[in-house]
Amino acid sequence: MHSCCKGCLTSCRLFLYLVLWALAFYLAGCSGPQAVEREPGMTEAELREMLKIDFHDHIDALPAAGEAAFIGKLREHNLKWLTIATVGTQWQGLQQQINVAETLHARYPQQVAWITSFNLENWGETGWESSAVRQVGEGFAAGAVGVKVWKDIGMVLRDPDSSFVMIDDPRFDPVFEYIESRGKTLVAHIGEPRNCWLPLDSMTVNNDRAYFAENPQYHAYLHPEIPYYWEHIRARDRVLEKHPGLRMVGCHLGSLEFDVDELARRFDKYPNFAVDLAARICHLQVQDRDKVRDFCIKYQDRLLYGTDLAVDSTCVGSGMTRALELIEATYSRDYQYFATDDEMEVPEVNGKFHGLALPAAVLKKIFYGNAGKWYPGI
Ligand SMILES: [Zn+2]
Repeated sequence: MHSCCKGCLTSCRLFLYLVLWALAFYLAGCSGPQAVEREPGMTEAELREMLKIDFHDHIDALPAAGEAAFIGKLREHNLKWLTIATVGTQWQGLQQQINVAETLHARYPQQVAWITSFNLENWGETGWESSAVRQVGEGFAAGAVGVKVWKDIGMVLRDPDSSFVMIDDPRFDPVFEYIESRGKTLVAHIGEPRNCWLPLDSMTVNNDRAYFAENPQYHAYLHPEIPYYWEHIRARDRVLEKHPGLRMVGCHLGSLEFDVDELARRFDKYPNFAVDLAARICHLQVQDRDKVRDFCIKYQDRLLYGTDLAVDSTCVGSGMTRALELIEATYSRDYQYFATDDEMEVPEVNGKFHGLALPAAVLKKIFYGNAGKWYPGI
């Protein structure tokens, strides 16, 4: 062979190797997102069977006659309820919720965990701070894994000069510092969905329309004196800035339900901030499906499944039957939404959308695994 041809052959081989190397590199680069897509999912039946926690519920009362059926329903779903005692401005009702939660947690530790709260009826009185810290400490002694603050801070509670008390008020600092010192979690439902500041016919989901029609006292659109939506969000963000060591779970997608980008910005900024999904899953269902799915995968460590389901004194006989039917329907829909990519319809949303078909590893975290980080000891 002519030496020139040998050279050509070598060059050709070199070129071929280069092409193959580039092709391999390209395919390797493509395998990232494909690998995510290929991650194994989970069927609805598998999600139903899996050990789970519903991180946001309310047991206001549980009549003895309904207890076995209710606990049986939770066991059927392999589910624990985190029941949240709430509304400090209604101290008597709050105490009743605390008593019920303590009793049921002691009786059914595998099915019921709980969150305590503190009195706000004595706000501004001498000794408020020490009594709030004592109440919170008593809750921890009875097994509470966190402390709830509710939207009455910012929307109802006022100082004598009639100004609204916001969540970043320095008078709350000793309580927050105590929660942090005990390694517990602040559970914050601050503000409301952005829909609350809109007229009923402009709201994006049907359940907000129904709630604010039934509860006009909380419909901020009708009460211009109530601080605007972003004032609540900013006050909550200032608490995160002031107490970087305090673990906070924002209820209801942290009241930033309308846009996953808003939540993503806070997750990036505040490493000790997570949110539950309670009563706001429909707000994910009205956003772009693929964007929501990417968000759930990226922030899988910061999301906690929750429903805001409740049982109360009406849950006897047919009342309990209706409550159990609602529980069953809610969980069934949510399993379908998170585990499959089925086309779906739900009462809260006008129109159809697709399920998220999240990878099994992500479902395990959102429905259970994140408990260890956000609610130690649950
Ligand atoms: Zn709730």
